Amino acid sequence: MEILELKPVAEQLFTDLCALSFDGVGVTRDSYGAGETAAAGYLRDFALRHGLQAQADRAANLVFRLPQADAGAPATWVGSHLDSVPQGGNFDGLAGIVAGLLCQLRQARTGQRSRVPLQVVGFRGEESAWFGKAYIGSGALLGKLCAADLALAHRHSGESLAACMAAAGADIAAIRAQELLLDKAKVHAYLELHIEQGPVMVARGLPVAVVPGIRGNVRHNQIRCIGEAGHSGAVPRWLRKDAMFAVADLIMRLDAHWRVLLERGIDLVVTTGMVSTSPQAHSVSRIPGMVNFSFEARSKSVETLESFYQLLRTECKAISRDRGVRFEFDRRIESAPATMDGGLSERLAQACRQRDLPFEQVPSGAGHDASLFANAGIPSGMLFVRNEHGSHNPDEAMDIDDFLLGVQVLDDTIASL
Ligand SMILES: [Zn+2]
Repeated sequence: MEILELKPVAEQLFTDLCALSFDGVGVTRDSYGAGETAAAGYLRDFALRHGLQAQADRAANLVFRLPQADAGAPATWVGSHLDSVPQGGNFDGLAGIVAGLLCQLRQARTGQRSRVPLQVVGFRGEESAWFGKAYIGSGALLGKLCAADLALAHRHSGESLAACMAAAGADIAAIRAQELLLDKAKVHAYLELHIEQGPVMVARGLPVAVVPGIRGNVRHNQIRCIGEAGHSGAVPRWLRKDAMFAVADLIMRLDAHWRVLLERGIDLVVTTGMVSTSPQAHSVSRIPGMVNFSFEARSKSVETLESFYQLLRTECKAISRDRGVRFEFDRRIESAPATMDGGLSERLAQACRQRDLPFEQVPSGAGHDASLFANAGIPSGMLFVRNEHGSHNPDEAMDIDDFLLGVQVLDDTIASL
């Protein structure tokens, strides 16, 4: 039996989960919340109906195994995330879990088991959109969540991450103690298939690509610029402490630094957003006394992230002096860049060649659970599948035939381990 014969199963899974998670605009599967739990429940039932085993781990991630699999034996892990951003797309994360399940179904139906047992994991809480923190489910397994992370508040309900994780069935005491909830020696390799979230593969005409590495990031979910509110008609420019002009000045300075660094060939992307004055206080005729905004920089290099972050702080100090404002920073949050295992990348490339697929190496600008496994010293590999219209929006468009080519490559690679 070939992977391609499982196309109707893949289509059914994507269709059902899209309908289950539809919010009127896109799909919403909130991290450690109702949408994510509903998707996990659907996938658990699907797996059990098809003769696979499914159970939650201590971080409430969903783990799938083949029947009669020895849960204690080293395994090849294939994982991705169950959650989505608000009004997101159906394929971000889900594609990787469905890919792993198709590989397991093929093994279950043919009886041709891979030499290293295959375990599939649906991670919870990969998206930072809900709690301002990414990789929650995989991070919890690896003992990476600190007390400040667990105290983060849900964007809508304000409930703490710890409370939401506990409600989903996670072992909060162990996670709070930063216990390692998996035995690294039992993870033979970690593989992740994911849609590309940028425009490169469509432009290059590539159905699949091997991912050599993942950018890291440094962030503040909220920086507050505090100046002095005043009457827009009555205060002359030289006496103003305008928080809005100060933030605009900062952003233009960061953009100038960014352009110079790019000219030197340095890998960097910079984003600010969530810019707001207080809706209770602001008006057309009021000089803004306070502006909130977010900051994010991503790069393949830790040194670049650190130096750009220091530039941000230096410019904030300079603007404070120039414009009579001050900046307050919430907790600095960072994710390390990651390099995928050379041997696994070569195996993925070899599988592409054997199937006569054109492919290239395409680095990932977006973060993935694979980066945590790679940085924990577990050999990790990633495969991208072509996707149009970007990601984190309802217009993600992955062709099911491209997807099946990707699953075929994944299946061949699993068999080669
Ligand atoms: Zn994703």
